[in-house]
Amino acid sequence: MTHTRVCYDCGARTTAPAARCDCGEPLWLDTDPGTFDWDDVSDEPGMWRYESLLPVSRPAGLSAAAGGTPMVSDASIDAVAGTNVHLKLEGEHPTGSFKDRGSALGIAAVARGLAGDVSAVGTVSHGNMAMSTAAFAAAADLPCLVLVPDDIPPERLDVIDQFDPTSVTVAGDYGRLYEQTLERGPDHGIVFLNSDVPLRVEGQKTTALEICEAFAPDTPDALVMPVSSGGHASGAWKALRELSEAGAIDRIPALYFVQAAACSPIADAFEADADEVTRVVGGETIAYSIANPDPPSGTRALRAARETGGAVVAVDDDAIRTAQRALAVDAGITVEPSSATALAGIQQLVERGDIDSDDHVTAVLTGTGLKEASASGTRSPSTDHVELANLEDYLTGFTSTDD
Ligand SMILES: *Cc1c(COP(=O)(O)O)cnc(C)c1O
Ligand SMILES: [Zn+2]
Repeated sequence: MTHTRVCYDCGARTTAPAARCDCGEPLWLDTDPGTFDWDDVSDEPGMWRYESLLPVSRPAGLSAAAGGTPMVSDASIDAVAGTNVHLKLEGEHPTGSFKDRGSALGIAAVARGLAGDVSAVGTVSHGNMAMSTAAFAAAADLPCLVLVPDDIPPERLDVIDQFDPTSVTVAGDYGRLYEQTLERGPDHGIVFLNSDVPLRVEGQKTTALEICEAFAPDTPDALVMPVSSGGHASGAWKALRELSEAGAIDRIPALYFVQAAACSPIADAFEADADEVTRVVGGETIAYSIANPDPPSGTRALRAARETGGAVVAVDDDAIRTAQRALAVDAGITVEPSSATALAGIQQLVERGDIDSDDHVTAVLTGTGLKEASASGTRSPSTDHVELANLEDYLTGFTSTDD
């Protein structure tokens, strides 16, 4: 049995396990939310509490640890941002990013035959998605093929390899590799759970479901999240549409997406009032997890921002570093640079008046900084050194008020 897939753009439907519509735009699952309300959530752990909106119920094992991430607020961050910020800690996931939501659902669906006859799963990724797919495939005893660009830093490959996928570095254009795996995978019995495929988007819609449930019976004014391929953004939009259709929220929060200034095709298209996102030549940025110059769901993300009354903005590396440091120093939260764009984006949106000081906005902190703390640039440059024999003096000096 497969699930019907529908094109957000032209409305075409198919029961084939395809990722793309004939019109070229990405498909997503056709979900009927019925009369879903917050009373309908189940007692299942994490994201599986929304099983009535999902195509599969919770499988055994690691998937129980996907979703259910905390949301916290911090007065210093509110002061830095100039509004009321709710920090959604997606870095709490087993492999440290929201990608686990999509991997958990995608792999559960594959294991139950919802994606047809399959002998392996695969993904095309720079890091977080590869790690996540490999971990959940390992838990489900499914072979996993990870295709990464050949300029990936070896440290990142090591982290992925601990889950023992077959990892391959591929020379050639990343965007074409991404699309070719979606086209060719099925003929080889491999389901590629790439960033914006219907099953991954379906799992990743649960981030926004959790955020809205946390505010119920109110609704947050805005969700602010980093965007790269547009897969997570598409999931958030889909969640809001389903909640609105079911009547579980009475207005749709604005979706704001943030990119790194060095590689910002979706923000550029938004700024230019374009109908479609077109490929750019991306530059270097510390936010490498969101540096996709040719986003496969870029146009869908653009539409999501427009139709919810949000926007797509770009922030430079200095603003990203400052936001990353504020999260660590003021709130004790370590995020990778890509995730810090959410806070930097809120600052910009408050400054230019898109977000009001009395709004309540959720910053989706998509990934942990723990995987790369040494590369984060947030370390204090000076570390004191003390001989054990002098510890007493050091402690006295540390707490004495007169410097
Ligand atoms: C994948 C990723 C993103 C971007 O998500 P898309 O679905 O590709 O738009 C943002 N932040 C982190 C930490 C990620 O791993
Ligand atoms: Zn279409």
